[in-house]
Amino acid sequence: MYSRMLVLHFPAEIVDKPIVCNLVKDFDLRFNILKATILPGKEGIMVMELSGHPKNFSKGLKYLREQGVEIKTIGQEIQRNDERCMQCGLCTAVCPTQALFIKRPEMEVVFAADKCSGCELCIAVCPPRAMEIRRQSQVAI
Ligand code: SF4
Ligand code: SF4
Repeated sequence: MYSRMLVLHFPAEIVDKPIVCNLVKDFDLRFNILKATILPGKEGIMVMELSGHPKNFSKGLKYLREQGVEIKTIGQEIQRNDERCMQCGLCTAVCPTQALFIKRPEMEVVFAADKCSGCELCIAVCPPRAMEIRRQSQVAI
């Protein structure tokens, strides 16, 4: 069984199509969706663990690309600029892996980099742009 964490970007034109369901039906793959959200521009982002036989996995990814889905592996590093962070907590509502969480009772927003999947959802919601990407390790597949 082959398994990988993926970040799927769905352009607005295809965001309402049942593309992901076909991975099970047509390619015998299994998925576990950690987070799915629609961004203000109407495009969708889905973070999932996808598993299956390697041959089916490749076919499934080919199918996704043919539908217009952009696929990235979790190969990028996210960091927080602590000087910019104003501790508003917005990022904790979108983080699928709880890498960003509120520590109680201090009510401090903590970033645990070792739990980060690199999905970038926090970047879109952070008002002062405190969450940053180290681009050199991002891998599109
Ligand atoms: S990129 Fe941001 S939202 Fe995604 S897992 Fe990492 S900290 Fe959480
Ligand atoms: S959304 Fe940005 S400013 Fe707000 S707590 Fe998260 S990292 Fe800090």
